[in-house]
Amino acid sequence: MFATPLIAQSPPTSCGLYVHVPFCETKCGYCDFNSYSGLEWLTARYGSALRCELSLWSQRVRRPEGVLRIATIYFGGGTPTLLGSGGLKSVLDTCGQVFAVDATAEVTVETNPGVADEIALVELRSAGVNRLSIGIQSFDDGELRSLGRIHTADGARQAWSMARRAGFENLNLDLMYGLPGQPVQSWRDNLEQGLELEPEHISLYALTIEEDTPLGKSIASGRIVELDPDTAAEMYMLAEERLEQAGYHHYEISNWAIPGRECAHNITYWRNRHYLGVGAGAHSFLDSYRLCNLKVPLEYVQTLEGEGDSLPVSDIEQIDEKMAMGETMMLGLRLSEGVSAGDFLRRFGRRPEDVYGPAIEDLRRLGLLTWGGDSLRLTARGRLLGNQVFCRFVG
Ligand code: SF4
Repeated sequence: MFATPLIAQSPPTSCGLYVHVPFCETKCGYCDFNSYSGLEWLTARYGSALRCELSLWSQRVRRPEGVLRIATIYFGGGTPTLLGSGGLKSVLDTCGQVFAVDATAEVTVETNPGVADEIALVELRSAGVNRLSIGIQSFDDGELRSLGRIHTADGARQAWSMARRAGFENLNLDLMYGLPGQPVQSWRDNLEQGLELEPEHISLYALTIEEDTPLGKSIASGRIVELDPDTAAEMYMLAEERLEQAGYHHYEISNWAIPGRECAHNITYWRNRHYLGVGAGAHSFLDSYRLCNLKVPLEYVQTLEGEGDSLPVSDIEQIDEKMAMGETMMLGLRLSEGVSAGDFLRRFGRRPEDVYGPAIEDLRRLGLLTWGGDSLRLTARGRLLGNQVFCRFVG
């Protein structure tokens, strides 16, 4: 942790704000996020700590012309709605008091259908939240149980209807594929049921097996068998085809949207632009530094409750130009718009092919990358083998 005040030398003119809320009702069997169950007793103190951290940051990232402009706000977790609509509203109010939040800012809150409450959703909507991301994951109750989710498919549909009745016109639906034993037909059914809800945005994630989770241990012991990667790839291609047919724009490897409803906050990350992260374990990218907050919620809260005005930062890393260029390639290639050589030149003084000529040529020969005008993009095959492409630019 840094005892001395950390001050951004040249704060960005505008950035995205991420607020991490690490509370969950129970821990899902596959999840290795910085989230915890059984910490309800800490929520009120956590909300105060968030407000305190926002105020501390606003003093450190001031620009001569005034406070930092915030273009997007994203409450992620965990299950942010466990902070309560009052808790979330007071954090949002603090954001408005200490920063210049754009009048048209996209303000997203993630939620779990198992804790959805219609009155709370109405309160969130009137507090200025204009986008909800609902973690449905599957419409098959057996799959939901195997993932350790706390809701049923019917519960998820009810939560979706509540969100619509509460006035949310911009909803994201999260689904997972590649689950152990999942037949392709079940994935097809999941997609169809998802489309019936008419989401503005859809995020599809392949289940990744993390060693230190109950699911990871079951797979290591042989009790559960991981789905083979070819079937998972088939599911991904099926989704690409079906969602395109349904009119969705496949704007990022794992994300689709009705045109105009792409997630502006996440695009900040993929364009490798600045963001401020508050909350336990949250990351920030400011100036040329990446910072990481204390991960354990109680330590995070106690630091902000203590004397003085130290930020709860536990790690800081300077991003040199080589790293910044590699990350700009890796993140930008996730987007269907790809990496614009002109933008890269304006930012780094060199074109991508001047820095990565041989790697780009190799990947083009392998059919994984292609030039589209001024932009370098993944091909359909490249989207399936993204990690093989990204490792040529970073590491
Ligand atoms: S609800 Fe989300 S953050 Fe919480 S345990 Fe489940 S997957 Fe992890």
